[in-house]
Amino acid sequence: EHHSSPSIGVTLFGEKTETIAEPLKRADLAMYQAKAAGRNTVRFFDPKMQAMVTQRAELEEDLRDAMLNDQFELHYQAQFNDQGQLFAAEALIRWRHPERGLISPAEFIPIAEDTGLITILGYWVLNTAMQQLAKWAEHPEFAGLTLAVNVSPSQFHQKNFVDQVTDVIDLTGADPRRLKLELTEGFSISNIEEVIARMSSLRQRGVSFSLDDFGTGYSSLSYLKRLPLDQLKIDQSFVRDILIDPNDAAIAKMVIVLADSLGLSVVAEGVETLAQKAFLEQQGCRAYQGYLYSKPLALAEFEAFALRAYQISYS
Ligand code: C2E
Ligand code: CA
Ligand code: CA
Repeated sequence: EHHSSPSIGVTLFGEKTETIAEPLKRADLAMYQAKAAGRNTVRFFDPKMQAMVTQRAELEEDLRDAMLNDQFELHYQAQFNDQGQLFAAEALIRWRHPERGLISPAEFIPIAEDTGLITILGYWVLNTAMQQLAKWAEHPEFAGLTLAVNVSPSQFHQKNFVDQVTDVIDLTGADPRRLKLELTEGFSISNIEEVIARMSSLRQRGVSFSLDDFGTGYSSLSYLKRLPLDQLKIDQSFVRDILIDPNDAAIAKMVIVLADSLGLSVVAEGVETLAQKAFLEQQGCRAYQGYLYSKPLALAEFEAFALRAYQISYS
């Protein structure tokens, strides 16, 4: 007996004159979709599929040039504590594409990860953020800010990740205690010992860690307990309907209680209304990020915003 699990791609031909290579290419594309759908299945060619593949290939090409042409920017989104003070910001990358305008990181980060470009991009983000921290250290209005930087799994798992971070710390002269790295849940699944070792050595330098999008993955609580974290970040998908959906409210409450019992701080993201903030506060949340306070802002705008916030809390 033999079992096989073929992935089959199907396309039509014969309607118009074309070379044999064309229908084969279409069938191939459809076959890869069948593979991506879990194998042992069949997919028909769909012109939309082709458009997507072409668009992605173009974006990938552009992404390679973007670095050389200085098309990336960091934007900064404020985080406030329950005293109403601006205490931190999250650095969020933006790509200013010459034809397409601003492209969301949700679109290009996955491409950067697949192509390995995330290494260069991640280093650029870290370096830019730390240079900024070093500059802010000289101004009393900004010196107290912590900066959160997103680190994608493939970046964290690079062999020399710890060296990259420590090099940037040494090169920029920024205070590592002002740097918070945001990891996502996917990290904790494989090779936990290595993850713990890396986090611990960076923590010895003063860097802190936050677990981003908490609740959306499937963290095992026994892993969570072992990771040397400082903060959990309640994902915005739970905050969005926190006043409407009792399940979301229950999850948010659970995260706050969990953070508390593990000795971690907690920050809620995607806070858009006062009512959401009030609910979170009632549950014991002490830090917030979202449109209620500010959207992510370009550097000059963020500094103006931070200056006002500083003057308000110290006047
Ligand atoms: P994230 O880390 O979960 O970032 C939060 C996202 O929510 C940001 O989208 C932010 O603009 C948005 N947001 C903030 N407040 C609100 C709100 O009140 N309402 C709503 N509806 N949305 C809000 P953005 O900037 O498009 O970033 C998307 C994702 O791209 C990030 O999700 C992060 O995973 C990734 N990313 C961004 N910058 C970097 C980076 O420098 N490195 C890496 N590796 N990933 C990054
Ligand atoms: Ca984040
Ligand atoms: Ca998040």
